[in-house]
Amino acid sequence: MISETEFSKTNIGTGRARRVWLPFLFCALSAICFSGPAQAEIDVSLSGRTERIGSFSHGEIVYFSLSEFVELYGEKLSWETLGQSIDYRIGDNRFRFFLGSSFVSLNDTVRNMTYPAKLREGALYLPAQTFVRLLDRTRPERVTWESDRRRIRIETGYYNITDVTVSQKANGILVEIYLTEELPFQLTESEGNWLNFSLPGGRVNRAVIESRRSSAAIREINAFQFETSAQVSLRLRRTPHSYDAKYNPETGRIQLSIRNPNFRPQTTHRPVGQIGPDKTIDLIVIDPGHGGEDNGAIGRRFTKEKDIALKISRELAKLIRKDKLFKVILTREKDEFITLEERAGIANLAQADLFISIHVNANISRQARGSQVFFLAPAKNDGARALAQAENASFLTNAGSVDVSGRDDLSMIVNDMIQNVYEEVSADLSAIIQNQFQKSLGIPSRGVDQAAFVVLNQVYMPSVLVEVAFISNRQEEKLLRDKKFRRKAARAIYEGLKRFKRKYERSP
Ligand SMILES: [Zn+2]
Repeated sequence: MISETEFSKTNIGTGRARRVWLPFLFCALSAICFSGPAQAEIDVSLSGRTERIGSFSHGEIVYFSLSEFVELYGEKLSWETLGQSIDYRIGDNRFRFFLGSSFVSLNDTVRNMTYPAKLREGALYLPAQTFVRLLDRTRPERVTWESDRRRIRIETGYYNITDVTVSQKANGILVEIYLTEELPFQLTESEGNWLNFSLPGGRVNRAVIESRRSSAAIREINAFQFETSAQVSLRLRRTPHSYDAKYNPETGRIQLSIRNPNFRPQTTHRPVGQIGPDKTIDLIVIDPGHGGEDNGAIGRRFTKEKDIALKISRELAKLIRKDKLFKVILTREKDEFITLEERAGIANLAQADLFISIHVNANISRQARGSQVFFLAPAKNDGARALAQAENASFLTNAGSVDVSGRDDLSMIVNDMIQNVYEEVSADLSAIIQNQFQKSLGIPSRGVDQAAFVVLNQVYMPSVLVEVAFISNRQEEKLLRDKKFRRKAARAIYEGLKRFKRKYERSP
C-alpha cells in the first residue's frame, strides 16, 4: 500500500513508476480506464503565461488534472491511502477528495461537485465547471473557468478587496476588511441593521468574503461587484449605535469598530462624574491578579504574587462589605486561574462602576521598591511597558488570538474607544489611591503611571491596576507577608474609593 505519496514533476522518476502502478490497481476495481473519454489538454493562464495541463472530456464535462494544476503553484497533493482520499492544502484551507465521489470536504463543510473525482494514470482529475468555483473560494487570486476557451484563468493581483474578518471584543465588535492597496471608502447605514462600505475602484473577492460565516455579532456578510466599484455589506444583529471606521496603512485593512450598546455610555458627551448607568458609584469589582497556574511574580522567600493579591483583595472586600457604602464582586475568591478576558467579562456583565486590579510589583533590581497605581493608556515609558508586558503575560499565553502589545492595531482601536471615555476618570482614581498609599503605607511612592494592561483594556468602566509594593525587594516582601501591612494597603485603597465616590457623586 502506498500512503502519503506526493506526486510532482520534479521527482519524475518515482512519480512515473507510481503512475503505472495506480491505474493498474484501479482498472481492476473500476471501469474508469475503459470508458475511453477523449484525452486532451487545457490551458491554464497564470499571471500572463500559459501552461498546459492534462485533461479529458466526459460529454460536456471537462476534467482537468489537479495533480498537474497544483504543480504550477509548486504545491503538492497528499494521498492518504490508496484509493481512499486525497488531501489538498492551500494555506489554511484543506480539500479532501474521495475517488469516485462527487462530494468534497472543504475544511468542515461538505460540497458537491456534481461530477465525481476521478483517477486517471495515477493523477487526480476534477470537473472544471464545478470545482474551479470552489477553488476560487480558497485562493487570494481570482480563479475562473472559461469554458469556451477551455481555460482556467488565474489572475493574481486581480482582487484588491480580499477578505473580511470579524472579532468580538469585550466592549464591541471589530470588523476588518483586507485590502491589497489603499482604497477610498464610504460607510453608510441602511434599513435592517446594514452597514455598507462602498469602495470606488474596488475589485472584491466575493466568494471568499461571502464564505465567511455569520457570527454572534454579524448576521450576514455580502459583497457586490459593480462596474467601477465594489461594496461590502454587513448585517448586524442589532442596530449599531456607535461605530467608527478607518484605514490602517500598517495592516492594509479597513478597521470598523462597533461599540456594544450594552456598554455604551448613556450620552455621547457624558460629563465626567457620571459613573455607571445610575450616576452613583456603588458597585466595585476587585480583581486579585494572577491565580492557579499563574503565580505572578515570586519573591526571594518564594512568596507568590497570586497569594498576596488575593489576601489584599479579600481584606479590601471585607472592609467594603462592612460599611455597605458599595457592593463588591471579586473576580476570583480562591487560588484559581482565570483569563484576563474572563475577569473583564465579570466586571462588564455586572455593569460595575469601578474596576480595581490588585497586584504586587517585581523587578530584576532588588533595590526597586514602592507603591504605584496605573491606569490604561499606551505605555509612555519603557518601565511601564515592561511591567504591562509582564502582567499581560498570562493573556499572551492563554489567548493567542489577540496581540496585546501596545502598538498592536487591533487592540489599539478598541483601546481608543475606551480611553476616550474613561482615561481621565481612571487617571484621577489612580491619583486618589496613590495619594492614600503615600499617606499610610510607609514605603516610597512611585506615583501614577499609564500602561497598556490587557485586563483594563477590556473593561468598560473606570479602572486602575494597583501595584502595592515590590515582592522582589527584601523589605517589601517581608511587609507583604505581614497581615497588618496588607490590611493597611486595603484600607488605603478603600479610603481612596470613598474619596472618589464623594468627589464624583457630588460633581454635577
Ligand atoms: Zn501582577
